[in-house]
Amino acid sequence: MNQITNEPLDRQADKTGQDKPPLLYDACIIGGGVIGCSIAQALSRYDMRIVLLEKNTDVSEGTTKANSAIIHAGYDAKPGSEKARTNVRGNRMFEAWCRELHVPFKRNTSLVLAFSEDGIKGLAELKKRGEANGVEGLHLLDRSQLQQREPHVSPAAHAALLAESGGICCPYQLTIALASQAVQNGLDLKLSCRAGRIRRHQGVFEIETSKGVVRSKVLINAAGVYADEINNQLSTYTFKITPRRGEYWLLDKSASDVFKATLFQLPTAMGKGILVSPTVDGTLILGPTAEDVTDKEDVRTTQEKLVEILDTASMSWAEIPRHQFITAFSGLRAHADSNDFILGFSPDVPGLINAAGIESPGLTSAPAIGQELAEMAAGFVQAGKKNSYQPAYQPAVPFREMSHQQRHQAILKNPQVGRIVCRCEQVSEAEIRDAISRPVGAATLDGIKRRTRAGMGRCQGGFCTPKVISLLSDELQVSPLALTKAGGRSQILTGRIGQIDLDHKENTHHG
Ligand SMILES: Cc1cc2nc3c(=O)[nH]c(=O)nc-3n(C[C@H](O)[C@H](O)[C@H](O)COP(=O)(O)OP(=O)(O)OC[C@H]3O[C@@H](n4cnc5c(N)ncnc54)[C@H](O)[C@@H]3O)c2cc1C
Repeated sequence: MNQITNEPLDRQADKTGQDKPPLLYDACIIGGGVIGCSIAQALSRYDMRIVLLEKNTDVSEGTTKANSAIIHAGYDAKPGSEKARTNVRGNRMFEAWCRELHVPFKRNTSLVLAFSEDGIKGLAELKKRGEANGVEGLHLLDRSQLQQREPHVSPAAHAALLAESGGICCPYQLTIALASQAVQNGLDLKLSCRAGRIRRHQGVFEIETSKGVVRSKVLINAAGVYADEINNQLSTYTFKITPRRGEYWLLDKSASDVFKATLFQLPTAMGKGILVSPTVDGTLILGPTAEDVTDKEDVRTTQEKLVEILDTASMSWAEIPRHQFITAFSGLRAHADSNDFILGFSPDVPGLINAAGIESPGLTSAPAIGQELAEMAAGFVQAGKKNSYQPAYQPAVPFREMSHQQRHQAILKNPQVGRIVCRCEQVSEAEIRDAISRPVGAATLDGIKRRTRAGMGRCQGGFCTPKVISLLSDELQVSPLALTKAGGRSQILTGRIGQIDLDHKENTHHG
């Protein structure tokens, strides 16, 4: 991290090349994960100038893209903690929030399994803790009640704690929808824009970024595993974020209807333990592990941890069909040394608001955190609500979810609906073109994947990648050679080996 100086930042560093000081925003959010975007969406209801800085080429490229995607009931967090409070509140807000944003959500319930007498005592303690946190719909089940609900659960499970309010969602679709609605309502979204040196000068934050200086009255720190580096530049109330890696296996859709509920085991000091869960997209995940690492970008998967997942998950599901694994992935929890979320105004820097240490249940807590921190920021600049607010963008029904009749009608209107690009997930050319051209559109292969599921199925993009590159190139009017998987140096094509017809006219720009 750069040194802090007492001199005002050089305004000429603003690459806009303007002599006048850069625009003064009311609020600047650092971080385009589910937390930054939920704050942006809530803030965009106010009459304020807001900017969001995200260092990656897309929103949802950090922890938000790789987690269990569970909307936790709230029995796990310590009573009285920010985690407990925002989890229970967020869970209650989630369904309506997803409906408003047109993203999937399912209240599939969750079960914590016990495999011994001690485990049964553990379930009773969890139930008590949940009730202290205000969680409703918690029930202890005996073995036969459990088997009745989930016939494929391992017979080794003696009992379970049922949480009726447990749910599942799609974190990246949610975050893209949040960003998109905020942009439609005035958010200035700056992608590929890293916040570096920051100082507060005459009541204004001056943030040096890779795209020039950004000035703002309020600074909201939602930088995930990097949140300590933002806060500690400005405040004497420092904290440390440790990246805690969790690895997963993903199974394809043929395993989708084995379990209805999310199956947990009893939580440990490191986290909620290994789960087996359906996803809202019809796949199934196993994981995560919990391991502290030093590198904030270290999202590799390891043989050791993937074997650990199999060993532990097979206690819940005795016959895991290993031939149905389609990929493995990992994500980093932003674990704060205080072991709780750090939310709200900094005690010594007026206008600095932290949303830090947002490990699990951060996704569940996101609607509550977004709303509460937006209120704080609006209060600081004394902004009122806007008179009008644009509803969220609603993409057309995906081809895979259409009836035969709907498909017929849609193809008559637009033949691109009938051109299937991703066979595994049945994604049409029309969906891919829409994903590129809609508000906060995709500019990379991963961006297409997260908006449409093209490349997320059994073949993991083996068949559709060339066609997706061709469509991206056509819509964005850039050479296929310039396109990337996920920005930065992740170019997909390195050069020409001959005149291969990429089903695409030669472009004006050569990368
Ligand atoms: C293994 C695992 C399992 C989990 N399971 C669940 C679960 O089931 N349910 C649940 O509720 N929660 C779960 N969580 C927690 C949840 O995923 C997180 O709380 C949530 O995604 C955090 O979002 P965020 O926006 O704070 O962080 P991120 O998504 O990491 O976003 C932070 C963003 O800030 C950007 N950034 C950082 N520094 C800068 C800078 N200097 N300039 C510009 N941009 C910057 C990053 O690029 C990143 O995009 C899990 C987490 C993990 C890792």
